[in-house]
Amino acid sequence: MSDVTHVVNPTTEQVIAEVAIHGVEATDDAVARARAALPGWQAIAPADRARLMRRFAAAVEEHHEELAQLETANVGKPIGESRDEVGMVAEVLYFYAGAVDKHRGATVPVAGGVDMTFNEPLGVVGAIIPWNFPVAITSWKVGPALATGNTIVVKPAEITPLTAIRLAELGLEAGLPEGVLQVVTGKGSVVGTRLAEHPDVAKVAFTGSTEVGSEVMTRASGTIKRVTLELGGKSASVVFDDADLAKAAASAPGGMFANAGQDCCARSRILVQRSVMDEFLDLLAEAVLAWTVGDPTDEANKMGPLVTAAHRGVVAGFLEEGMGAPGGPVATHTAGTVPDGPGFWFPPTVVAPADPQWRMAREEIFGPVVAVIPFDDEAEAVRLANDTPYGLSGSIWTRDGARSLRMARAIQAGNLSVNSNSSVRVQTSFGGMKQSGFGRELGLEALASYSEVKNVFVSTVD
Ligand code: NAD
Repeated sequence: MSDVTHVVNPTTEQVIAEVAIHGVEATDDAVARARAALPGWQAIAPADRARLMRRFAAAVEEHHEELAQLETANVGKPIGESRDEVGMVAEVLYFYAGAVDKHRGATVPVAGGVDMTFNEPLGVVGAIIPWNFPVAITSWKVGPALATGNTIVVKPAEITPLTAIRLAELGLEAGLPEGVLQVVTGKGSVVGTRLAEHPDVAKVAFTGSTEVGSEVMTRASGTIKRVTLELGGKSASVVFDDADLAKAAASAPGGMFANAGQDCCARSRILVQRSVMDEFLDLLAEAVLAWTVGDPTDEANKMGPLVTAAHRGVVAGFLEEGMGAPGGPVATHTAGTVPDGPGFWFPPTVVAPADPQWRMAREEIFGPVVAVIPFDDEAEAVRLANDTPYGLSGSIWTRDGARSLRMARAIQAGNLSVNSNSSVRVQTSFGGMKQSGFGRELGLEALASYSEVKNVFVSTVD
C-alpha cells in the first residue's frame, strides 16, 4: 500500500474517508488467503454453512441504519433507497443461505450403471463492483458464491468502497472464517486487472460498463476463467395509447430518475404512441416537477446529487449537442430544480420529442435525463426498442394482455415488466442480453453461475 483515495460525499463535497489504494501484491495476498480458506469453508456441513450465512444476514439487519447512512454519504442516493438496498442485502444473504442445502444434483437414467451429478464449487471468485449500487451488487455476488462453497475477493469501485468494506467486517464478526470474504480496494486497472488475470481465480463476476466488461473478458480468457458480465443499458419504456397513462406517467420518474438515473436499468428512453403523446407529456411534466431534488438524508427528497463532478460533466455533455447538429442544445421539454451550494446536482430532465438518432437517445447517459420518442404502431415500437446494442431491461404499458406478451417476447432484453418499472427482485433472475452482458444474478439461476456440474458414472455391471 503506497497511497490513499480520498472518498468524497457528493452532497457536501467533503472528504469522508481515506481508503488504501492497494496494488498487485495485496491482491495476490488476498487471492492466496481465499484459496487457503477453500478447504475449510467447503468442509463445513451444509446446514452449518447456511447458519453462518444467516448470522451474517442478521448482522446486516442489526447494522441496517449504519450501512444505509454510509451508502447515502458515499453515493449521494436518497436514504430511503439506501435503506431498501441494505434491506435487500440481508434478504439476498437469507435467500442464498436457504439455497445451500437445496442446490441438488440429479441421477440420470443410463445403461449399465448409475449416473449422478454434483454441483461443484468453482474456487476463488473475483468480484468487481461498480459505484452505483455498491452494497447491493456486492451481495448479489457474495450470496451465491458463498452458498455454493466458493470464497470471494471483492474489488469495489474506487470512489464508493465504504459499504463493501463494512460488509466484509460484519461477515467476519458474524463468524465467516478468515479469507472467505475479503475486500481489496484499489484501481480497476490494477486490482481488477489482476483478479481477471490471476491463475488462482476461477471466476470473475463483473458489473460495470460494457467497455470495461469487454476488457475483463479478454483478460480472463488467458486462464479460461468463468466470467459473468452485468453491463450497461439503454432501456425503453413503451407506452401504448390503451395504457393507464396516469399510472405510466406517475411511475415514470421512478423508472428513470431513481438513483439520479445512475442505474443500469434506467428507462432512459420512453417510447410513446403518437396519438397520446401530448396527453402523456402533460402528465409526465407534472410527475417530474414533483420529483424533489435535495439533501439525500432528508426523507422528503426523491433524488440526490450525481456521484462526482466529473460524472456531472459527462451527463451535461449529452444536452449540449443535439438536433443532429453538434453544438446546438437539445430541446428540453421539462427540467426540475436543484439546490444551490455544494453538491454535484443535476436536474431531472425530459427531452421531448427526441430524435432516436441523437446521441442522448442512443448512449447510456447514467444521469437523470430521458428521451421521449414517438412511435406509430406496435412494429415500430419493437424496432425502436431493439435499436440499441444493449438489452438489459424495459417496460411495456398497455391494457391489452396479448399485446403485452407479444411485446415482452419481441423486445430483446433480459428483464421486462408490464405496467411496472420494477426490474430487480431477490427471487428472480437478473441479467442482460446482447451487449448488456451474460450470465444471471439473483434467483436460483445465480447458483449455476457459481458452480459447475460434475458427472459421475458408476458401473453396476459385474
Ligand atoms: P466501470 O466499468 O468504469 O467500473 C466498474 C468496476 O470495474 C469498478 O470497480 C472499476 O474499478 C473496475 N475496473 C475499471 N477498469 C478495469 C479494468 N481494466 N479491469 C478490471 N476492472 C476494472 O463502471 P462504473 O462507472 O463503476 O459503473 C457504471 C456502469 O456499470 C454503467 O455502464 C452501468 O450500466 C453498469 N452497471 C450495470 C449493472 C448491471 O447489473 N447490468 C448494474 C450496475 C451498473
